Amino acid sequence: MYLPDFEYYAPATLAEACELLAKLGPKAKVLAGGTDVLSKMKQEQLSLEALVSIKKLDELTEIKSNGKGVVIGARATHNSLIDAPALQEKYPSICNAAKQMANNQIRNTGTVGGNCVNAVPSADLPPLFIALGAEVKLVGTSGERVVPLEDFFTGPNETVIKPDEILTEFIFKDQPFTGSNYLKFSLRRSGALAVAGVATAVVMDGDVCKEARIVMGAVAPTPLRAKEAEEILKGQKVTDELLEEAGNRAAAECKPISDLRGSEEYRRDLVRVLTKRSLRKSISEGHV
Ligand SMILES: Cc1cc2nc3c(=O)[nH]c(=O)nc-3n(C[C@H](O)[C@H](O)[C@H](O)COP(=O)(O)OP(=O)(O)OC[C@H]3O[C@@H](n4cnc5c(N)ncnc54)[C@H](O)[C@@H]3O)c2cc1C
Repeated sequence: MYLPDFEYYAPATLAEACELLAKLGPKAKVLAGGTDVLSKMKQEQLSLEALVSIKKLDELTEIKSNGKGVVIGARATHNSLIDAPALQEKYPSICNAAKQMANNQIRNTGTVGGNCVNAVPSADLPPLFIALGAEVKLVGTSGERVVPLEDFFTGPNETVIKPDEILTEFIFKDQPFTGSNYLKFSLRRSGALAVAGVATAVVMDGDVCKEARIVMGAVAPTPLRAKEAEEILKGQKVTDELLEEAGNRAAAECKPISDLRGSEEYRRDLVRVLTKRSLRKSISEGHV
């Protein structure tokens, strides 16, 4: 399989990149790590006339604390999340989620921005990022806007991003969570997409759960919050029975399909088990 011909641009500034995207229109797309867009072009699943590379925009690779929280540049690779001091200090759950992704080669090239903009329902980072309340900054020719990641996805491979916009950063404001993590189940240990994934974030006060977020991946057209399961936990003393009830409720709330990787029933059962395990881990490990 060969790549078809296309125009290649590598602008030196963000403004130039947005102007190019606006000028080229829907037949052009951003090129970040290329692990998704180039494979789709090779397999003729996507026909594009131009790619606008963001490889010269080094400012988009930064991962830093800014006094109010942590900002992850959209061009940061999955491997760079694993070792980032700002994340190891404040959000080790993000480092652990990145370790569960793909294989070393893909983690070295695939980016955080690409993982979200391609909006594949099984993508690993969106559930955890949503559980942690992340926002995304979108920059286009008419200015910039900040959107909660929870409102970013509109369907499989669809988001609110406009053709001339570039996702520049993920913003994590300091928050009250006492624990969080992401667990996925896939058919192989390495390089495999999630059959189901669950991220949880909790605020514990002793053995009482003051707040919980549960976000499920690969079991609906977009990452999905299990809001009824979250309500079951709110203000309650945590017991095995309560976690069981939350897992059952999350399994009822998800909307999985049956495909080659798993049936609807199997995915619901995975959600039930992963929700319980992920909550238990968030509650007991006591770090975000
Ligand atoms: C073998 C293999 C294993 C994989 N395993 C996993 C896995 O375990 N978990 C998982 O979640 N994913 C997995 N993936 C999917 C994918 O490669 C990753 O999600 C990766 O993060 C995509 O990022 P990228 O930079 O390569 O995106 P690209 O291919 O460069 O871009 C993907 C899409 O996003 C757009 N885009 C990228 N960045 C921006 C931006 N900053 N602003 C606007 N638009 C942008 C592009 O235009 C394109 O439409 C795997 C892929 C392969 C090939």
